[in-house]
Amino acid sequence: MSPLEASSGAPILSVRSLIKRYSSRTELGGLLSRTPDKIVTAVDGVSFEIGEGERLGLVGESGSGKTTIGRLLLRLETADGGDILVRGREISGLRGKDARAFYRDVQMVFQDPYGSLNPRFKVQDTLMDPVIVQRLAPRRGGADRAAWALERAGLSPPEEFFHKYPHELSGGQRQRVAIARALVMNPRVLVADEPVSMLDVSIKAGILNLLKKLSDEDGVAILYISHDLSTVKYLCHRTAILYRGKLVEVGPTGEVIERPRHPYSQALKAAVPNPDPRAPRRQVAMTGNPGERVKDLGCRFRHRCPDAMEVCAHVEPALIEVGRNHFVACHLHDPNI
Ligand code: SF4
Repeated sequence: MSPLEASSGAPILSVRSLIKRYSSRTELGGLLSRTPDKIVTAVDGVSFEIGEGERLGLVGESGSGKTTIGRLLLRLETADGGDILVRGREISGLRGKDARAFYRDVQMVFQDPYGSLNPRFKVQDTLMDPVIVQRLAPRRGGADRAAWALERAGLSPPEEFFHKYPHELSGGQRQRVAIARALVMNPRVLVADEPVSMLDVSIKAGILNLLKKLSDEDGVAILYISHDLSTVKYLCHRTAILYRGKLVEVGPTGEVIERPRHPYSQALKAAVPNPDPRAPRRQVAMTGNPGERVKDLGCRFRHRCPDAMEVCAHVEPALIEVGRNHFVACHLHDPNI
């Protein structure tokens, strides 16, 4: 098995060697400045698959490229290289009814349940709008579909919520409406970008359980984007750690989070507060500036890595298998170095 492959079910989503670059010239400051154009590679050759009913966690700190990957999957941005396939079809060239089918198959749940709903739309309109735009059902059938999605998202009875505006709902209810808006399209892939990070702890578990149920019972493939290892551990079958646009560790969640092998993954784990002061933990002190860009070859984590070696400055590590379905990009684990 390669890190690309889904661990369960037929692959619904395949991402191959995905690349996204940004130019400083596209920003206003860059256009006005006389400094030379700078190209930043936000996503650099990322590959993975998600199978039917599988939940993959994509973890990294701010600026790691995880949200950019989510936006590329939704066609909100255009990739500079690589392929994205949904149900075996490359998405960049889809037009007409094929594009409409794609927008039904792939849905997103955003981080901010306050900002992602139109404050002037009642819940019913929020849910029926995409149904009408996609011509999935006439108005009467659309209402039935909206009611079904609300029930599926745990808002029952749906009639109680139909005529409410977002400001009349709690944070958890708003996020459930956002999930219902995705479900109304009967998606096969759900991209959930930090969907619980703005919610109270008591509400988080309910939303995570809902996502679990959707993939277990309906076979929805979920890409769960987060920086929170505890929610990834609770929800995801596999976890991929992203650093500066590259995958540095991929594997079963129990392995990657409990026994991380890459120094960056170890640092992420060490940063999670543990209520038990007797619990053993490896202190991983990252050095250097997280915003500093590494220009030349070699490992992009080397300026912050407590274990960096001479070779790390010259040779970029590739993902190698260190355990069953567990892959790490680090020279410490390369038997040939
Ligand atoms: Fe650290 Fe070298 Fe491994 Fe990179 S390749 S994580 S610098 S030990």
